[in-house]
Amino acid sequence: MKDRLEQVKARIKQAAENCQRPADSIKLIAVSKTKPAEVVREAIDAGVTDLGENYIQEAREKVNTLAAANANWHFIGHLQSNKAKYAVRLFDLIHSVDSLKLANELNKYAHKNDKIQPILVQVNVAREDSKSGVYVEDTVALLKGIGQLANVSVKGLMTMPPYFNAPEKVRPFFAALRKLRDRIKSENIPNIAMDELSMGMTGDFEAAIEEGATLVRIGTAIFGERH
Ligand SMILES: *Cc1c(COP(=O)(O)O)cnc(C)c1O
Repeated sequence: MKDRLEQVKARIKQAAENCQRPADSIKLIAVSKTKPAEVVREAIDAGVTDLGENYIQEAREKVNTLAAANANWHFIGHLQSNKAKYAVRLFDLIHSVDSLKLANELNKYAHKNDKIQPILVQVNVAREDSKSGVYVEDTVALLKGIGQLANVSVKGLMTMPPYFNAPEKVRPFFAALRKLRDRIKSENIPNIAMDELSMGMTGDFEAAIEEGATLVRIGTAIFGERH
């Protein structure tokens, strides 16, 4: 675990150097879905500060078991509105908001919990039927709606590109997300920050960093294959 983690960190640093970015402008999120709490604890002991989870129920156990470790927890899976209540209690950043309905639910429970909930808007850049996310052309309208909500705070965008297992094939989708981010930033939508770009997984994170990723979500390269 420690060795794999160090290798991933070294690759992140190298990718950052290749494009003249400071390595500390990229945060590693270790994606621990399907991995038990003992394994996550090992990762935290090895230096991981941020964990990514896809399922509320599974995450709840780990967040509670590991509460004393003070890690940051990221929700990266598809979130149903009826689970918003739990997501607000458990997660420091929710990456997968793609509708005003979901944002409204998060806002409601964040208000009840006296919290401002940081979120990202997930964009379906490739318009895949199988993926969640708002289409590029609908993103600004969604952000203008979310900007009205007092208890959620948008920090940036997230995407899951089509899976080619070929970084050069997914690179254009990363570049498209960055362009969208830059365009939205220039519009200065009230209450919307556009600093974070969550993109890049085990198979393609170097390309994502070269295209501007600030949050990379890496599971397999740290924890090994999922079963
Ligand atoms: C599982 C998952 C990851 C991590 O994938 P790996 O290929 O194991 O690095 C990243 N992002 C999301 C949204 C995921 O569901």
